[in-house]
Amino acid sequence: MSWLEPSLAAEGARIMTICNACRYCEGYCAVFPAMEQREQFGPADLGYLANLCHNCGACLPACQYAPPHEFGVNVPQTLSQIRVASYQLPRRKTVLMLGIASAGLLLLVLLAGTAWTTLFARHDGGAFYEVISHDEMVRLFLFAGAWALVGMGLVFAIRHGVVRGVRRADFGAIRRGWSDALRLVNLGGGGEGCIEEHERPAQVRRIYHHFVFYGFLSCFLATIVAAFYDNVLGWRAPYPFASLPVIFGTLGGVALLIGCAGLFRLLRERDVALSDKGERGRSMMLLVFLFATAATGLLLLVFRGTAAMGFLLILHLAIVFGLFVTLPYGKFMHGFFRIAALIRFASEQGD
Ligand code: SF4
Ligand code: SF4
Repeated sequence: MSWLEPSLAAEGARIMTICNACRYCEGYCAVFPAMEQREQFGPADLGYLANLCHNCGACLPACQYAPPHEFGVNVPQTLSQIRVASYQLPRRKTVLMLGIASAGLLLLVLLAGTAWTTLFARHDGGAFYEVISHDEMVRLFLFAGAWALVGMGLVFAIRHGVVRGVRRADFGAIRRGWSDALRLVNLGGGGEGCIEEHERPAQVRRIYHHFVFYGFLSCFLATIVAAFYDNVLGWRAPYPFASLPVIFGTLGGVALLIGCAGLFRLLRERDVALSDKGERGRSMMLLVFLFATAATGLLLLVFRGTAAMGFLLILHLAIVFGLFVTLPYGKFMHGFFRIAALIRFASEQGD
């Protein structure tokens, strides 16, 4: 059975066939040049095109065949529906429940397993391991990390056919695909930016997305450096304010707060005709988890020398655990499919 519902596959093929005859939007993004190389639009082509689309929205107000025209062409929304179908396995509400339940359960278990005199004591220098032992924390996040990595690998292995098509060892295409992904070139809507309020193009969505992406990378780097300090050099957390894990973590945390809050606001205010309800919901879920992770991490840093440290540490760990559990089944997966589609595009265009 195909991963794409027959009615959605038929609608995607209908719209791409109209666009292929019209070609007015070919300068907006990679979707249209990739479409022009095809005459038929089966599920594999539609999945590839949908993952090339950054949902900038520029091709909806530009379209003379958009609703209320009888052709009813809505490229951003149709590709959004196909895109979310390409990487989603469980339903959105199941993923939300999984994240909340795993974070809530861990919070309760850790709170119940910690004596209140320890939890609300002022720990010398903010020593985290006086609240949760080093071994317990390592076991917890080895499990969460393995769950996320194996889950993401399985989802990609099951659905990678959607974006497959790169010639073997095409290093030029790999370099160009990564470069396009890291600069979010297709979020520019042909140069003027994404369509936001009142159909005005603006670069603000691209900027907030950069805050989220590079903020996440900075926090990830902080974790890697801290793990190296802890497990290789034997330097135990917490680290001084001027140390690399704290500097990367603080910069990443602040960037995540700005980016997540900004993208969440834009999503709430955006015209619902531009995207699929399911994809919007998954985006909001990821933004809330990332925002909560960054906020509790920064609060922990600020209050680590006070009696609030124990509770903040447990709350932060529980939220990070919930984030890891949901990573393979939410909007986070779109990044892998997007990069694969951009590499395929560069390969097809002969870069
Ligand atoms: S979105 Fe509309 S204007 Fe743009 S290529 Fe398709 S049919 Fe033409
Ligand atoms: S919404 Fe933007 S990225 Fe998607 S097809 Fe239209 S112009 Fe391209």
